[in-house]
Amino acid sequence: MEMFKHPIYVTQPLTPNISEVTKEIEKVIESKWLTNFGNKHELLAEELKNYLEVDHLSLFNNGTMALTLGLKALELTGEVITTPFTFPATVQALDWNNLTPVFCDIEEHSLNIDPDKIEEKITDKTTAILAVHVFGNPCNVQKIQQIADKYDLKVIYDGAHAFGAQYKGEPIGNFGDMTMFSFHATKLFNTIEGGALVYSDELYSEKLGMLVNFGLSSPEKVEVSGFNGKMNEIQAVIGLGNLRVLEEERTNRERIRQSYVDEISKIPGIRIITNRKNRESSYQYFVIEINEDEFGISRDELYYGLKSYNIFARRYFYPLCSEFPWYRNLDSAKRGNLPIAWEKVNQVLTLPFYGDLENEKIKIICDAIKEIQFKNVL
Ligand SMILES: *Cc1c(COP(=O)(O)O)cnc(C)c1O
Repeated sequence: MEMFKHPIYVTQPLTPNISEVTKEIEKVIESKWLTNFGNKHELLAEELKNYLEVDHLSLFNNGTMALTLGLKALELTGEVITTPFTFPATVQALDWNNLTPVFCDIEEHSLNIDPDKIEEKITDKTTAILAVHVFGNPCNVQKIQQIADKYDLKVIYDGAHAFGAQYKGEPIGNFGDMTMFSFHATKLFNTIEGGALVYSDELYSEKLGMLVNFGLSSPEKVEVSGFNGKMNEIQAVIGLGNLRVLEEERTNRERIRQSYVDEISKIPGIRIITNRKNRESSYQYFVIEINEDEFGISRDELYYGLKSYNIFARRYFYPLCSEFPWYRNLDSAKRGNLPIAWEKVNQVLTLPFYGDLENEKIKIICDAIKEIQFKNVL
């Protein structure tokens, strides 16, 4: 079988039209206004509000900063119920706010936090639920909101993978008190590094405006202890450029998703997790789950096998956040309390997925999967 001469990575950043963006960058540099809420920053915020169909949005220099300052603006204390099956940034944003994560197990099907297991985690110290729309598949936002309303908790979503996703036709940013989006280069829409918060209450706009800029409410007035989390003008130009090519990227990813589905969905032991069409998912990743008993070999055997073909899949998310050394003493971090997360963390594999991935390469990746399975099972 033909092997890749050049390695295939799990993702490749979306990039804007070079000559258009170069012109815009020249204008920014000539204007001498390079950061601190310039024209491009304001324009990008407006365009993103339209794209995401939300009323309130603030920009940040990355998604982790957005989440960290969002939690701060919500004035949370004590414990926050969250998922162990996420990127480290989700829980580290809690750490920086002196909040204790309480890990809750995930749903078998969606890999998102299991709403049916949230209530038993609530104590008198609980102030919020921090849920993640894992791989762009929306959480059960209705059930989560019902629980939050019953116990008077805030809800904040890590929507790093969910840019442009919808839940039952409603844009994903319109659920909970806040949603964070990441615009890192590996995400569907990027500003190289960057992020945003969208929120239900205009009240947070002023607060976040201070928190993102050293707590300043005016040039000589410091009202709160803030941070420096501002998105600069060059990042905003890249974002505006990428918005122009985003629909084409989505169309390409839909084609690629379908090619993968056609090639591998019938193989016993492979379940496709990111199988939702159109706006129901964000097209952030193409993720499969390997059931070793049915597939014949383990996820890890397939992962290392693909590497020998120069194909670099990723074990997102691995390991579980509950395994980080500083959470070891938490009761909720114990393995016995997280059975589904422990099962899934050893089954999930993210395959190469980006708009420029050619059909022939998808064919080679899928043939490699079949060949590795065949060789190992014999
Ligand atoms: C990428 C990612 C983040 C962090 O976003 P940055 O913009 O890289 O800081 C947070 N949560 C999840 C689930 C992510 O995938």
